[in-house]
Amino acid sequence: MHVCVLGAGIVGLATAWQLERLGHQVTVIDRAAPGAGASGGNGAQLSYSYVQPLADPSIWRQLPKLLLSPSSPLKLQPQLDPLQWRWGLAFLAACNAQTSRDTTAQLLALAALSRTEFEAMQADVAPDCDFSATGKLVLYASPAALEGARAQLELQRTMGSEQRIVSPEECVAIEPALADYRGQMVGAVYTPSECAADCLKVCAELMRVLSARGVRFLLGADVHGFARSEGKVAAVKTSIGDIEADAFVMALGSASHKLGRAIGAYLPVYPLKGYSITVEVDPSAGAAPRVNVTDSARKVVFARIGSRLRVAGMAELVGHDASIPATRIQTLAAATRALFPHASRLEELHPWTGMRPATPTGLPIIGRMPSAPANMLFNTGHGALGFTLAFGSARRIAEALERAAS
Ligand SMILES: Cc1cc2nc3c(=O)[nH]c(=O)nc-3n(C[C@H](O)[C@H](O)[C@H](O)COP(=O)(O)OP(=O)(O)OC[C@H]3O[C@@H](n4cnc5c(N)ncnc54)[C@H](O)[C@@H]3O)c2cc1C
Repeated sequence: MHVCVLGAGIVGLATAWQLERLGHQVTVIDRAAPGAGASGGNGAQLSYSYVQPLADPSIWRQLPKLLLSPSSPLKLQPQLDPLQWRWGLAFLAACNAQTSRDTTAQLLALAALSRTEFEAMQADVAPDCDFSATGKLVLYASPAALEGARAQLELQRTMGSEQRIVSPEECVAIEPALADYRGQMVGAVYTPSECAADCLKVCAELMRVLSARGVRFLLGADVHGFARSEGKVAAVKTSIGDIEADAFVMALGSASHKLGRAIGAYLPVYPLKGYSITVEVDPSAGAAPRVNVTDSARKVVFARIGSRLRVAGMAELVGHDASIPATRIQTLAAATRALFPHASRLEELHPWTGMRPATPTGLPIIGRMPSAPANMLFNTGHGALGFTLAFGSARRIAEALERAAS
């Protein structure tokens, strides 16, 4: 079968890898280079066990501070955009214990599949991507916050996650670069099995290997519509002409909502803007972290990728505005100085912004939609976990296509 994958972010490329392995003829279309969207400068964490959705009951308590504090990692800029309002209301409706529990269970199952599939990809492609499997510490600054984390940890334990609460002393033993920060935390959740890698390098490596295997990449091709015939999608309309295929997979990240509408599907995918910096680290022992670290109070994540440290955070509902305000970058640099004062001279920050393709619940949309033609599949809406979940959701798309073909 000839399958056309729309989007060369990590989700589209993982899909192309799975489909090529199964013997499909694959074309990948993107208006830019692989990883040019949300995948390029993300937090680099393969967070297989730490999947708590943003839509959580604790949001109600935190919301006033999150919306009103000038230093808040969350920002809402109301737009004249019905999707923003519809998405926001659906998000608040999902902030209850039952939905959060159900979403956690589904994300954990997908993450477990994704771990297996990422390992299969590593065995197959051997990507040069600064991969590490050094675990993850989520730091808490107050006893109340740590108690909240304990509840989530107990829930995830019943679903198979191996995590434990550790004291500040144990944190420093696990990650010596946190020594100066010991007094600022009351404890952490430690997950020994978490991993990290440079998602942009994974994208580039997948393109290199897949091109060599005969996958066709049409880059610089802007998708703007679809041609239908006999109830099916016959071709995708792009700036370089119509591209025909037997089946299509839409993996357009935060652009999925707009293109979904063009084919009759309502995809509740809204851009949740975030930022990152990437700095060279001091290679001396104990200067920069080797373990992934999340500062839960600042909502900033740190991941070591080779000789660099990726620092990422913030969540803004501001539409598709791709500007990078200096204040956001200064906040990430300040967080790095606060937690890891010896890690880097912070000379070159490499500021970056990206749009998480977020659904209200945090669950991605994988497979067919009743309102769209049967040969159009969707693989989008992975929100804050797209790197983590990409290879599992790609596997599910491949299985759905196999079922459709048999
Ligand atoms: C600050 C930040 C930190 C993050 N940290 C992590 C993390 O640590 N771990 C994790 O698992 N996830 C993380 N994420 C989330 C993750 O990066 C995303 O979920 C993931 O990149 C989404 O991948 P995607 O392929 O769906 O979208 P994208 O990477 O955005 O790819 C979509 C592609 O579609 C193309 N496209 C769009 N419109 C068109 C069009 N009309 N025509 C042609 N092509 C088009 C774009 O050019 C792009 O290449 C983070 C995200 C951000 C912003």
